[in-house]
Amino acid sequence: MNQRDKSQALFERALQSLSGGVNSPVRAFKAVGGTPIYIERGEGAFVYDVDGNRYLDFCCSWGPLILGHAHPEVVEAISKAAERGTSFGTVHESEILLAEKIKQLNPFIEKLRFVSSGTEAVMSVIRLARAFTAREKIVKFSGCYHGHSDYLLAAAGSGLATLGIPTSAGVPEDFTKHTLIAPLDDTEAIEKIFNEYGSQIAAVIIEPIPANNGLLIQTKEYLQFLREITTKHNSLLIFDEVISGFRVAPGGAVQYYDIIPDICTYGKVVGGGLPVGAFGSRAEIMSKLAPEGPVYQAGTLSGNPLAMTCGLKTLEYLEKHNSWEILTKNTAEFVADLNRQLADFPAQVVTVGSIFWICLQKNIPRRAEEISSNSTKIYAKLFRQLLAEGIYLAPSAYEVGFVSTAHTQDNLKSAADKIAAALKKIL
Ligand SMILES: *Cc1c(COP(=O)(O)O)cnc(C)c1O
Repeated sequence: MNQRDKSQALFERALQSLSGGVNSPVRAFKAVGGTPIYIERGEGAFVYDVDGNRYLDFCCSWGPLILGHAHPEVVEAISKAAERGTSFGTVHESEILLAEKIKQLNPFIEKLRFVSSGTEAVMSVIRLARAFTAREKIVKFSGCYHGHSDYLLAAAGSGLATLGIPTSAGVPEDFTKHTLIAPLDDTEAIEKIFNEYGSQIAAVIIEPIPANNGLLIQTKEYLQFLREITTKHNSLLIFDEVISGFRVAPGGAVQYYDIIPDICTYGKVVGGGLPVGAFGSRAEIMSKLAPEGPVYQAGTLSGNPLAMTCGLKTLEYLEKHNSWEILTKNTAEFVADLNRQLADFPAQVVTVGSIFWICLQKNIPRRAEEISSNSTKIYAKLFRQLLAEGIYLAPSAYEVGFVSTAHTQDNLKSAADKIAAALKKIL
């Protein structure tokens, strides 16, 4: 077991000045036990904590760091941008360059707008979809996460069939009453909702590759069905690609499945590690936004030059080095290796692109409801064991792992051996 005294002391200090000691809840390690490790620096595929321990990082800041930590070309681009000023609060060239790059990789998008987080992107497109359709209801899926805006912090009420009830204190029931909840991978549930509310539904929002509650890979047929039923009812289809965008393919899940939604939201990789969210669509829909149209949306730091530069450099690097193909291949080998070693155990690893999820049961779930509640306990043990061996997974059984271009095949081979050995002991 590595020493973590300094991290322990910092966390105790943090509890005196930060709510829960953290700025985002999962970071507090509640789901896995113990105290969080304080990171001093990151380099490539590794992070180093304040006690001098090194960890192979599979969290990668929850996805954005597709080139690993402190990639020299990215750091240089950000430094140069910083010398010219960190924010202007007005227009500058790099926001156009990033928008053009996103359009080139996602040809269905005609216009974009940048914000500072995935939450903001989703919040803005809900407003936009409601204004464009002049309808109020939104359909979301249980097991999909779309950030922490009020309307989308809802789960299906048991007696209520589909009407959303708030999942967070502080969200009025009035705010979620227009949010209809459906299970994933269930065409009948969606047909029922459209039969009842069809003419009131502004949009269906889905993570086309749901990766915030395990990795609940949907069939292409199901996504195609959502495309057709929304078109038939003049509702919009929103793909929340905050995780999958620029991660599973240059054109995200849109390219991976070859299905074109009406609106896309982005975050994480598009900022390369700095705060960026974005949303894009056809000009017809985007023209509803102020100043062209009546939908208000704004941001003091939106499109700020450091974040735009970091996102652009990241996407350019990925494109230049054909990284998506390499990442997918390396991740597939890593996962196949793990699955070979785990063949006789009730666990398997699910993957798409460079995303993977350690699924602690034999049947691969497509719906949140199919994930065994046992997995949290097993995962907590796995997490702590691997932390002691220098591997950092996300501190929750429901979070996925990410492979970056900095993870070498040797890194992945040795990680697969350690993960499999730990799981064999625990299961
Ligand atoms: C991470 C995430 C969000 C929220 O993005 P933040 O930048 O954390 O606000 C929204 N949707 C999906 C699919 C995400 O993965």
